[in-house]
Amino acid sequence: MKKFDLVVVGGGILGCAVASWASGLFEGKMAVVEREDRVAAHTSGRNTGVVHRPFYLDPAKKRAFAISAQASYGLWEDWAKRNGLPWSPVGTLEVAVEGEQLSVLKNYMRFAKENGMTEGETELLDPQDVAKLEPLVRCEGAILCRTDTAVDFAAFADSLMKVAMSNGVEALMGTRVVDLKEREEGVEVVLHDGGRLMAECLVNCAGGGAMDLAKMLGIARGYEDLHFRGEYWRVDEAFGRKLGHNVYSVPRHAEFPFLDPHFIVRSDGSREVGPNAVLVADPYSYQGFAKTALKSVPKLLERPILPKLRLMANPRFLSLVSQEWQSSISKSAMCERVRRFIPSLSPSLLTRRGIAGVRSSVIDEDGFVPEAIELESPHSYHVVNYNSPGATGAPAYSAYVLYKMMSGGQLDHMKRRSAGTIWDFDEVVSRFGKR
Ligand SMILES: Cc1cc2nc3c(=O)[nH]c(=O)nc-3n(C[C@H](O)[C@H](O)[C@H](O)COP(=O)(O)OP(=O)(O)OC[C@H]3O[C@@H](n4cnc5c(N)ncnc54)[C@H](O)[C@@H]3O)c2cc1C
Repeated sequence: MKKFDLVVVGGGILGCAVASWASGLFEGKMAVVEREDRVAAHTSGRNTGVVHRPFYLDPAKKRAFAISAQASYGLWEDWAKRNGLPWSPVGTLEVAVEGEQLSVLKNYMRFAKENGMTEGETELLDPQDVAKLEPLVRCEGAILCRTDTAVDFAAFADSLMKVAMSNGVEALMGTRVVDLKEREEGVEVVLHDGGRLMAECLVNCAGGGAMDLAKMLGIARGYEDLHFRGEYWRVDEAFGRKLGHNVYSVPRHAEFPFLDPHFIVRSDGSREVGPNAVLVADPYSYQGFAKTALKSVPKLLERPILPKLRLMANPRFLSLVSQEWQSSISKSAMCERVRRFIPSLSPSLLTRRGIAGVRSSVIDEDGFVPEAIELESPHSYHVVNYNSPGATGAPAYSAYVLYKMMSGGQLDHMKRRSAGTIWDFDEVVSRFGKR
């Protein structure tokens, strides 16, 4: 059986970032195990593509995401420039569609400051200011965030994987982990073709598959995940060009993973609307409705069942699920949700379906868990519920994960190397302790 000092499962943006840091910090035999034949084939390559500034993240409730987003912004900017990758600071208008949401915008201005954003990055606008900036947008008020930036996260992930490989990391692509067993000397990793690896230490960055892997080792009890597909529609080019910023609306149901679809300016200049959040059976259901809706019923009955029963008894949750399903079937229903703040958008201006990406949200007995969850076994470390703005925060959050593993002694078997990392590890992890 092939032995590794460190195995990272998952070649999404988080796994690639972990591998690039680890291979710069340590000497040792390392591998990334990825079920697809390329990195970022799933959520990391199927998202809105925005490096989010943390103005909307409550630092008390979403501490790790807020710090990661703030710390990673400069890292991504530097990385994009060094590697000639797309970096397009298009800015975002976060709009209050209803008057009562104006207080949320005020809170966001406070969060921006508390999260360390500079004063000029955000500005509170009244409806007249908004009309001057974006004449097609209707709202009661908005925050303009000038520094939200359109990028290509798949290209970011790919470039980090290349760094890891140049540091000697083996990329085991097209290799699916089907079982994990805790052994005295490490974690035995069983592969889809019957092959086996021994990982003295394993990091689970498997995105939508992370919960299943954690459960293979008997951890993550009390947690269950539900998968929500976010679908996008391409906007007619001439109409889309009339808007220059992303337009997001203040979430109406912050306790659930249902955001109203946004208007998005992609890094290649194309415009889209989306995503919705359609309940689907698994993290890879990118198309179809009837089959996946039916398949999601047994998922709802998987153990632990209590958190899901609570959700099912919540009429608001059920009505939102049904609204999301409608917007999956009907282009008009999707369009109607964006027309709340861009009234001149019509279904005929949504020219074709764009990509779709799946978010895997974890619930426990209190409902949806707001932060990423870290779990451990003697030879493994797991990140589940790593949702938006996870792609934004990946450079800093991955460093933080490694720092915690180092503090827990899980990486003591590897020698530190002097080759160096692409960013300053100590500086990045210090950001998590400063508050
Ligand atoms: C619709 C949508 C829009 C979003 N928009 C944004 C945004 O604009 N900005 C932002 O910052 N964040 C955004 N996010 C969140 C962000 O995309 C995710 O937080 C991030 O991509 C998660 O990265 P990851 O590496 O953890 O997961 P993934 O990208 O899902 O990677 C996990 C990898 O593990 C592999 N894997 C799974 N199981 C196994 C197995 N058993 N064996 C081997 N390999 C396995 C998968 O193939 C996959 O490649 C969005 C998310 C969604 C769903």
